[in-house]
Amino acid sequence: MNIYVLLKKTFDTEEQINVSNAEIVDDGAEYIINPYDEYAIEEAIVQRDTHGGEVTVVTIGDGKSEKQLRTALAMGADQAVLINTEDDLEDGDQYTTVKILEKFFEDKDVDLILAGNVAIDEASGQVGPRLAETIGIPYVTTITSLAIEGDIVTIEKDVEGDVEIIETSLPLLVTCQQGLNEPRYPSLPGIMKAKKKPLAEMEIDDLNIEEEDVKAKTKVIEIFLLEEKAAGRVLEGELDGQVKELVSLLRNEQKII
Ligand SMILES: Cc1cc2nc3c(=O)[nH]c(=O)nc-3n(C[C@H](O)[C@H](O)[C@H](O)COP(=O)(O)OP(=O)(O)OC[C@H]3O[C@@H](n4cnc5c(N)ncnc54)[C@H](O)[C@@H]3O)c2cc1C
Repeated sequence: MNIYVLLKKTFDTEEQINVSNAEIVDDGAEYIINPYDEYAIEEAIVQRDTHGGEVTVVTIGDGKSEKQLRTALAMGADQAVLINTEDDLEDGDQYTTVKILEKFFEDKDVDLILAGNVAIDEASGQVGPRLAETIGIPYVTTITSLAIEGDIVTIEKDVEGDVEIIETSLPLLVTCQQGLNEPRYPSLPGIMKAKKKPLAEMEIDDLNIEEEDVKAKTKVIEIFLLEEKAAGRVLEGELDGQVKELVSLLRNEQKII
């Protein structure tokens, strides 16, 4: 099976994030694999180990993206592709990303593409479904189970607490979320092996893409961090007293009644 994983590098939300001029400040930022993409990598490895074939991890990014690709290789992916846009494109949006991926997949024989459900930074959840629509294959989002028998694929997806069971066929794109599997940590031998695994780098020229073809259709006007909330106050004592105190606080302190 030819299995592809779409990987996005994202800011590490455990670290300090600074915003300036509607952009997250890149200097010194720590990057990680988008957490939902870890479920996609794990599932790709499990499916390859069950059915045979190869796992290729693809990212559109910059020189810093190699680290996340090497981590995916250390987890067990077979090869990686970095489509490096840093010298050619200043700006981009989900349209840009999908147009580039469409060209990448033009000459590929695909059985299964796995993406994350959503990127934790820009969080549109568009890239997977848009790519599937663009290249004309079926897709199922937010899956929690994937079983392939021949060309028949049985999928479970979470629908607000219920489980929906869907039968579909290959080739297919799915988007992954927690509950699907438990992503493995790269082992030490895995990390050593990953250094020698193929990591191809290409630019948009190699895909016969002109800057004009992938120009962003949207513009980010503003990004801002939410103000930190003050700690809540817990009222104590008899219930009657608490009610009186609450009403007094809402009227005199918060001035909302
Ligand atoms: C050339 C270029 C320049 C950009 N410049 C800017 C900029 O100036 N400002 C800005 O805010 N954003 C920029 N972006 C990022 C872009 O707006 C979105 O982050 C990106 O299209 C993905 O959208 P999303 O984060 O909503 O992902 P979602 O649709 O939420 O992601 C879902 C899944 O899609 C896949 N995916 C998403 N992005 C990629 C990727 N890059 N490569 C491989 N798989 C992916 C992953 O599997 C991910 O889990 C740029 C993108 C490109 C390609």
